[in-house]
Amino acid sequence: MSQLEILTAHCPVDFDVVSCSPPLASSLPRSHHEKYLHNALVNGLFPSSHIVHPQDNSYGLKNSDRHYDDEVSIPGLPPLHRGHPDVHLRQGVMNALHLSAAGEPDAEKAFFVADLSSVYRQHERWKKLLPEIEPYYAVKCNPDPYVLRLLAALGTGFDCASNGEINQVLELGVNPERIIFANPCKANSFIRSAAKAGVDMMTFDNTDELYKIARTHPRAKLVVRILTDDSKSLCRLGLKFGAPLVTVPALLAKARELRLDVGGVSFHVGSGCYDSSAFSDAVMRARAAFDMGKEAGYDFNLLDVGGGFEDATFERTAAVLTESIDQYFPQREHIRIIAEPGRYYVSKAFSLATNIIARRAPPSVENAQQDVEIDPEQPSVMYYINDGVYGAFNCILFDHQKPQPYVLSLNGSFHVPSSAPTRAASVWGPTCDSLDCVCPLAQLPAALQVGDWLAFENMGAYTVCAASQFNGFEVSRVVYTTGAGPGAAEVREALRAFQG
Ligand SMILES: *Cc1c(COP(=O)(O)O)cnc(C)c1O
Repeated sequence: MSQLEILTAHCPVDFDVVSCSPPLASSLPRSHHEKYLHNALVNGLFPSSHIVHPQDNSYGLKNSDRHYDDEVSIPGLPPLHRGHPDVHLRQGVMNALHLSAAGEPDAEKAFFVADLSSVYRQHERWKKLLPEIEPYYAVKCNPDPYVLRLLAALGTGFDCASNGEINQVLELGVNPERIIFANPCKANSFIRSAAKAGVDMMTFDNTDELYKIARTHPRAKLVVRILTDDSKSLCRLGLKFGAPLVTVPALLAKARELRLDVGGVSFHVGSGCYDSSAFSDAVMRARAAFDMGKEAGYDFNLLDVGGGFEDATFERTAAVLTESIDQYFPQREHIRIIAEPGRYYVSKAFSLATNIIARRAPPSVENAQQDVEIDPEQPSVMYYINDGVYGAFNCILFDHQKPQPYVLSLNGSFHVPSSAPTRAASVWGPTCDSLDCVCPLAQLPAALQVGDWLAFENMGAYTVCAASQFNGFEVSRVVYTTGAGPGAAEVREALRAFQG
């Protein structure tokens, strides 16, 4: 029996997110989302026609006669939906069924749901807690076209590391003055292109870079990237970048000799910084570098505190940073302070839904034998899903993440009773490489089987951007929503008003 048959036969009504509102709402796995969705469903805020993804209209789903005045449609970009991301995760599962019924290839494809209101709320939080610091979003973290457009509309700057990133931001119509070319080791041709495009602000941390810039972009506004203690972060960037403080005086003397304009100091405490105190140490070093600038005859007016901000520790980091800036830069009327947050803005905004395409279970599990001892701590079942470390889960290898799945649909239902018996399992990606392990140990419902869906939260940072198509598996597409929580209306308004 195919999963399609199981799904339609067992509990068809569960897949109608609109008509089955109470049971669906009560099945939500995440308590903080519960209220929004429950309320929205009960209040009928999601007519099915508005959560159906348009490409699936051919499967007999109703079209709406309702019209919204703030509809946003951007040429060349996928449609922008409304409603809570959980509704779209479920809708995507239902769409997969429709596509599968129509015999579409790759019907059960994994997909992201991006909630743009989450990006908006992070921006509001930033402005509230770090009002003095202008965010320059680090494009490499997730160069998603909607994310970039929204941030451009909200007025952030951009940290670009390559020609490609610079062009992507400039194509939005962003003023080149709102870009920092924050890669201290740039190809000559990239520096030349930046000069041509009017991108003047760029970082350096070595003498060779100064020679290159003097030749190709002598009017650049330079920022010296100093080395700070990155030992409290997941991705240590100091191994590759940053001038140790002892080398800074000689670097600045060389810059002066080449008649280059150095205007400030930058650092990066490391990506995924879990100890906020790293920022105070870094600001102290930046102060020392400012003083070295003065000695070299410069009058620095830019402090760039880099990236490394984490959603979970943002309040504490903001407090530490504000305090250390007060301490080391008490007089700062003429100093502009910028930052290069990446992960902070997008991590929470994206969820990923994956389909279980295969399962490997020992005979004792398959036959539900009661008498066989199974160690509850050791994975006894292997699940294979349709995205892996060569795709979105490259964050496991490159970004040291440990994603944990939750059950999106089980046996044709979005109800996952919390009392359902669980079993230790491991979760694997679809490629033929044994490196492709998504989660070595997870407690999952014993009834979980092929055709069910697993979802992952916090998949917005360093995921889509580095996904490959190894082994012929396509990169998972993204379904966009303005969300249902605070900020949804503001996102629509900002995108609609944005002229570029
Ligand atoms: C990667 C990077 C960032 C962004 O770091 P997050 O940890 O995602 O905030 C900022 N600046 C530079 C120079 C980077 O290389």
